[in-house]
Amino acid sequence: MTKNKIIIVGSGLIGRLMALYLSRQNYDIHLYDKSDKKGTGSAARAAGGMLTPYSESLIAEPEIVTMGMQGISLWPTILSTLDEYTFYQQKGSLVVSHTQDVGDMQRFVRHIQKNWSQCDMQKLNRNQLAELEPEIARRFNSAIYLPEEGQLGNRKLMSALTQQLEVEGINWYLNSQVSHVSKGKIICNELIITADLVIDCRGTGATDDLKNLRAVRGELFQLIAPEVNITRPVRLMHPHYHLYIAPKPNKHYIVGATEIESDNPGPMTVRSALELLSAAYSVHPGFAEAEIKEQVTACRPALSDNRPAIYTQTGLIRINGLYRHGFLLAPVVLQQALAAVTGQLSSSTLNLSDLSHQNPLIKQVS
Ligand SMILES: Cc1cc2nc3c(=O)[nH]c(=O)nc-3n(C[C@H](O)[C@H](O)[C@H](O)COP(=O)(O)OP(=O)(O)OC[C@H]3O[C@@H](n4cnc5c(N)ncnc54)[C@H](O)[C@@H]3O)c2cc1C
Repeated sequence: MTKNKIIIVGSGLIGRLMALYLSRQNYDIHLYDKSDKKGTGSAARAAGGMLTPYSESLIAEPEIVTMGMQGISLWPTILSTLDEYTFYQQKGSLVVSHTQDVGDMQRFVRHIQKNWSQCDMQKLNRNQLAELEPEIARRFNSAIYLPEEGQLGNRKLMSALTQQLEVEGINWYLNSQVSHVSKGKIICNELIITADLVIDCRGTGATDDLKNLRAVRGELFQLIAPEVNITRPVRLMHPHYHLYIAPKPNKHYIVGATEIESDNPGPMTVRSALELLSAAYSVHPGFAEAEIKEQVTACRPALSDNRPAIYTQTGLIRINGLYRHGFLLAPVVLQQALAAVTGQLSSSTLNLSDLSHQNPLIKQVS
């Protein structure tokens, strides 16, 4: 029996996962990206890899938190199918505030108590904080501990997916800008290429085709800080941004991230650099001696309601809007997008309304 041919445009986060999983379901996959194997320019390469749904709950829709908790529980299974190791940990995160932002902290605590009674939030005094993160207790008398939260190494994951796509023999066309995406057809390098199904995973690259899609700029630093020993993500209440410090292996730390309504992926501004680095220094003075490994800027793909969506019509599926939660939500988006493909290409008896009912991210378009 001939295999169904599927073209996937965009090998950022969701495009790579879709390519791998669909290839394992015996589809003939052709993956295109305008960039390189590392994912240069993608949001996925720029990200912080935070898996912190409760910490985000003040600024995210309730569904994001619920899907995020599912995502955290699904990641270990996904990672276990990759040959290359990816850093992943679920040993909680901390939220701290300086005196001037203590009102925001109290608002956050009330919000969790009111809306997320299932969350195992713990208020730590200085001694309890010192047991968990001794170096944070030098500057803070108290903290909120969210033990279910986690993080993963986004660049390690991108590298592990690269290797896996190669091992599993997926047709991958790099440095290939796709200029047109439509039902069962793309145009790349002036060639028309057809397939049974096209899956659009271009992130912010799809703004011309998705009118409700926008780009939201984010900036972060990668630091190497030999004098800092923090073992879990720390979020700092901050008047402008949702600032976090995410420890990675070998004394690497991510300090991020700004959020600016702009589609400019250009270099970091002085204002952002000052805010991010001062915030890191205010949490731990050891950051003063850190080496700046990289300053990173990219744009997050966001739909008007800031939720992800899977738009499906015969011959074309568009997966987009992963916004600031792509890693957190990817396992759930992946599951539902795979169901959307099965709904189109298999002889499954599931009708479209059942499909959308069971997979609420799927939206049928005419
Ligand atoms: C600074 C920053 C920090 C973040 N931190 C976190 C975090 O801590 N936790 C979290 O869960 N999420 C985080 N995110 C969000 C996360 O990175 C995104 O939600 C996710 O990467 C979106 O995945 P995607 O596959 O839709 O898009 P992308 O990862 O951007 O991939 C899109 C791909 O499409 C390709 N492409 C675009 N146009 C074309 C074209 N015309 N032809 C061919 N290829 C094309 C691009 O080259 C790219 O590889 C962060 C994002 C940013 C920017």
